[in-house]
Amino acid sequence: MNRRTAEPYKIKSVETLAMLSYEERKDSLNRAGYNTFLIDSEDVYIDLLTDSGTTAMSDKQWGAIMTGDEAYAGSKSWKKLEATVRDVYGYKYVLPTHQGRGAENILSQLKIKKGDFVPGNMYFTTTRAHQEMNGATFVDVIIDEAHDPVAEHPFKGNVDLNKLKTLIDKVGPNNIPYVCLAVTVNLAGGQPVSMQNMREVHELCSLHKIDVFFDATRCVENAYFIKEREVGYAGKLIADILKEMLSYSDGCTMSGKKDCLVNIGGFLAMNDEGLYIRSRELVVVYEGMPSYGGMAGRDMEAMAIGIREAIDDHYIEHRISQVRHLGSQLVEAGVPIVLPIGGHAVFLDAQAFLPHLSQDEFPAQALAAALYLDSGVRSMERGIISAGRNIDTGENNRPKLELVRLTIPRRVYTNNHMNVVVDSIIDLYKKRDTISGLRMDYEPPTLRFFNARFAPLSESGELLN
Ligand SMILES: *Cc1c(COP(=O)(O)O)cnc(C)c1O
Repeated sequence: MNRRTAEPYKIKSVETLAMLSYEERKDSLNRAGYNTFLIDSEDVYIDLLTDSGTTAMSDKQWGAIMTGDEAYAGSKSWKKLEATVRDVYGYKYVLPTHQGRGAENILSQLKIKKGDFVPGNMYFTTTRAHQEMNGATFVDVIIDEAHDPVAEHPFKGNVDLNKLKTLIDKVGPNNIPYVCLAVTVNLAGGQPVSMQNMREVHELCSLHKIDVFFDATRCVENAYFIKEREVGYAGKLIADILKEMLSYSDGCTMSGKKDCLVNIGGFLAMNDEGLYIRSRELVVVYEGMPSYGGMAGRDMEAMAIGIREAIDDHYIEHRISQVRHLGSQLVEAGVPIVLPIGGHAVFLDAQAFLPHLSQDEFPAQALAAALYLDSGVRSMERGIISAGRNIDTGENNRPKLELVRLTIPRRVYTNNHMNVVVDSIIDLYKKRDTISGLRMDYEPPTLRFFNARFAPLSESGELLN
């Protein structure tokens, strides 16, 4: 018998969920212009919009919140967070920031000069924006498999070393301030980087005196995939795998809202003292004193504890298995999703799900809206709407992938909630021909996915016919 497993925590405090009727959900969806970003959270049953800052904190974290030291300077809570980052991540110097992008801002300003090139394994929105605002060109050096939704590579986040070598030869190491390595790769669907690849990237960069900075936001999830898939790591502790991973970098930016198990916060870490001193000056300008950097003392207490809870082997095993619990049931039912299943989300392939809709009828947007209407589950479009328009030509960018992202918050939902999501998606898949496309009635000039409004294209005016 294949014995079932369960959540490695029990529930001490509960939040009642909204359970709207079909008609109420229909009204809510109408008011939101068929855009899941515009639905009020109080109308959502299961919220899979994002895993950023949506974590449930533990009793220990809530307890520590009362002990936060709110001193303007030299806070005890900062000392605790600093010592925890040094101990768990292994970097020499740490600076607090209000969230991940605060760290990205400081690193980009200090390292990049106009005309530089920053190679990365796919981009993350805010990371790339900071690099570009400081005059750099982002160059994607991820392996080709990462762009193929059905390529079954165990480490789809890996850097293609030939692409990196070619870039170094072409532009010269002096014009590459650092390599930005995301572990795991959010935009590729939470796909990991192998230890061997990290080691090789670091070796190649050392040879050319180029720094490697990790976007460590989802580093614990990456460590779990290494334990599971890479030879020699099966018997190791997540804590040790993580330390080895980070030893192949010169520093990192971190969003505390993901693998530090808190709702807000972040940090910038590095081993170079000179860079630390210059970074500290900018922390004062943008974030606050280097002993709080935009966080309250209580936030820093909670983060110091969250960092340790995240490297608990049982926690991370359950986290990844919950994402798989959702994804594998969809695969079994024949629902098209991006493979392999990543660390934080399951992505529905909306183009394959709704083959009767052209990309201009916004299949991913329509599927996200239909899922909310069917069961009150909130997901997010990652397709032609999110891709926006080309700045020069004004034409729609046409991404290869038209996806709906189901992102699992950490420690918030049980596997029963995942089952509800599975059942709703399978039902929708059975009646997929009845799902209408959408037209865009209002298009904001920038980041249109947040505020755009839509209406069904069907003659009846209904989304589900
Ligand atoms: C969330 C995220 C960031 C940005 O962090 P914020 O805390 O939202 O500013 C950067 N990189 C990755 C991979 C992320 O997931």
